[in-house]
Amino acid sequence: VRLLAPDCDITFILSQDGSGKGAAMVTAVAQRLALQSHLDLLMKDLIKGLGKHSHHKAAVKMLPTFVRSTPDGTEHGDFLALDLGGTNFRVLHVRVLEEEKVVDILGSQTCSISQDIMLGTGEQLFDHIAACLADFISSQNLKEQTLPLGFTFSFPCEQKKIDESILIRWTKGFNCSGVEGRDIVQLLKEAVQRRGVSECDFTIGSVAMVNDTVGTMMSCGYRDQSCEIGLIIGTGTNACYMEEMRNVKRVEGEDGRMCINTEWGGFGDDGTLENIITDIDRTIDQTSIKPGVHIFEKMISGMYLGELVRLLLVKLTEQKLLFKGQRSTTLLTAGTFPTKFISEIEEPLSGLENAKRILSSLNVPYDFVDARIVRLVCDTVSSRSARLCAAALATVANRIRVNRGLKHLKTTVGVDGTVYKKHPNFSDELQAMVRLLAPDCDVTFILSQDGSGKGAAMVTAVAQRLALQSHL
Ligand code: BGC
Ligand code: MG
Repeated sequence: VRLLAPDCDITFILSQDGSGKGAAMVTAVAQRLALQSHLDLLMKDLIKGLGKHSHHKAAVKMLPTFVRSTPDGTEHGDFLALDLGGTNFRVLHVRVLEEEKVVDILGSQTCSISQDIMLGTGEQLFDHIAACLADFISSQNLKEQTLPLGFTFSFPCEQKKIDESILIRWTKGFNCSGVEGRDIVQLLKEAVQRRGVSECDFTIGSVAMVNDTVGTMMSCGYRDQSCEIGLIIGTGTNACYMEEMRNVKRVEGEDGRMCINTEWGGFGDDGTLENIITDIDRTIDQTSIKPGVHIFEKMISGMYLGELVRLLLVKLTEQKLLFKGQRSTTLLTAGTFPTKFISEIEEPLSGLENAKRILSSLNVPYDFVDARIVRLVCDTVSSRSARLCAAALATVANRIRVNRGLKHLKTTVGVDGTVYKKHPNFSDELQAMVRLLAPDCDVTFILSQDGSGKGAAMVTAVAQRLALQSHL
């Protein structure tokens, strides 16, 4: 070659296992490129949501939270925290201790929210909440004190101030009538009043309304002050982060930062994700309580992952690729494959055994190959979720980096949610993908413990500190 091509200086390297590693490399690059295009789309949507005139058309709502500061470590005091967002409602009595930089839970009570209440009237829901709160206050002997209250309400809300929060729409299987478009603080106060004079055994003090992402960020922020992103991957998915006030066009003021609740679950509601949405995604959307909205969430979060797998298994059975093509009424019934099955089947050691046990319980005639295919289906669905989530998180991290004119950003994400915490490799896959997609950001993940409760107290504490400071 040197003789025949004297103008070319060619180096020869021996390939080691090229077919295997190379194929993996091509796949990885293709994946990165595919996800890269989503990063660009989401970044455009983030900017659209923040804009004064583009906001009303934006699928990603980018809601101001009126949280302007992460904890500085001087916060302290006793608080009540309420937490509503899943199948339970919790009330907590929380103490923030300045010296030890810890948040203690002094007492808590859980009230379940039945399907009837989730789909009933707003009055029923708030009466239930007020009753649960009254019960707790008397059991903890807190009647004489009027503690500030942090309310973690994990749904998209338009906030006008820290204590006014208008529900945009229900998500995650809630659909109580007469609440969308109303102020949650007002509805809570009305419910307390409805208890009547004799029963009106407590009063509500100052209130801070908090999204669960914000609570998560704030509860981690007491320990690690570089925690500027809150992430939830549980029943639903969402993230918040600290944005520069100059970019928050819908709120007056140019200085400092404000936490923005992205509501990224709504990504794709305007058709942006059309080219990656599958038939199964469409079925999930159309059979959901709220078709057409929160499309991204429906591809990612725990409320839908199990059902995605179930529908895929049904489809593969119809195509005679599974279970010898034999249908099972159980598998054909919606909701028979909860998301926790995915975690169990993907467990590295016991996964195949778990798959067999689960398939038996679903009354399908499976063989060894079927069990492996089912595991592959679970892996495909959960990996897609982790990667989409990583793409979104990488976009947010990059946004913070560019906002601050930094070449390199070091930041921390506070995370909560059952999918992230319980799935055997979801968090690893998510983190690896974020490293790949945001190479200029060094992102540390910390697990939030009880973020909704402690974080709500933290937001209330920070709001108090800032209010006091502004009086000085
Ligand atoms: C809600 C968000 C919430 C997320 C995680 C979504 O359905 O719209 O407000 O943060 O679930 O709980
Ligand atoms: Mg502004």
